Amino acid sequence: MASIDIQSIRKSFGTFPVLHGVDLTIRDGEFIVLVGPSGCGKSTLLRMIAGLEGVTSGDIRIDGKRVNDLAPKDRDIAMVFQSYALYPHMSVADNMSYSLRLRRTAKEKIASAVGNAASKLGLDPLLERRPRALSGGQRQRVAMGRAIVRQPKAFLFDEPLSNLDARLREQMRAEIKKLHADLRATSIYVTHDQIEAMTLADRIVAMHAGVVQQVGTPLDLYDRPANLFVAGFIGSPG
Ligand code: ADP
Ligand code: MG
Repeated sequence: MASIDIQSIRKSFGTFPVLHGVDLTIRDGEFIVLVGPSGCGKSTLLRMIAGLEGVTSGDIRIDGKRVNDLAPKDRDIAMVFQSYALYPHMSVADNMSYSLRLRRTAKEKIASAVGNAASKLGLDPLLERRPRALSGGQRQRVAMGRAIVRQPKAFLFDEPLSNLDARLREQMRAEIKKLHADLRATSIYVTHDQIEAMTLADRIVAMHAGVVQQVGTPLDLYDRPANLFVAGFIGSPG
């Protein structure tokens, strides 16, 4: 688990401003769901926390330590994308162990980490397959397996279930919640899906036009939306 402090974060691409000063304190073990319209900067914010994108100004702290200048691999954070981003030429097992092999982890440790992750996610029978021989749901499981083998302190999920059908989304939602609890992680989860937001979140962060509009429990946002934007998002489940 990790606390994540986002302090006065601004981000521009060239002269184009995307985030106008985002402040957010995420507690150890929290499940935060980040919502907001397309283009409002959700992915950019996750990528900055992961270290895949630099900040224009402001600080990101993990467990109190400023990480602005740390490489992604040194941040103890794993990211799961909508597009899976699996290596097509590697088996499921090799996809899952890749980050450990990069870190020159001992073979026995890798085998046990991959074995554990595979059994948590029901991937044991698929370990020798290539990604193209998997269904969308199975690929997303591999992407999650790859994220959990390193036992990161925090998970960042960027619309991980958007490509899946409704039944599978519901099943995966439950599994993500369980993994978060089992691994004692801190999670930030971006979604467009109101039901996902309401069922997964300890707190929801609603963003619009480059600023945080409201932070609160699902019930807070439902009962006392700060403005029409938040009311519109929570009020029209789709
Ligand atoms: P969201 O995930 O909320 O849909 P993004 O964070 O992907 O939004 O994008 C926020 C804004 O920043 C968009 O206007 C997008 O076009 C722009 N943007 C994102 N990444 C880049 C980039 N690498 N270069 C230039 N503009 C970008
Ligand atoms: Mg996005």
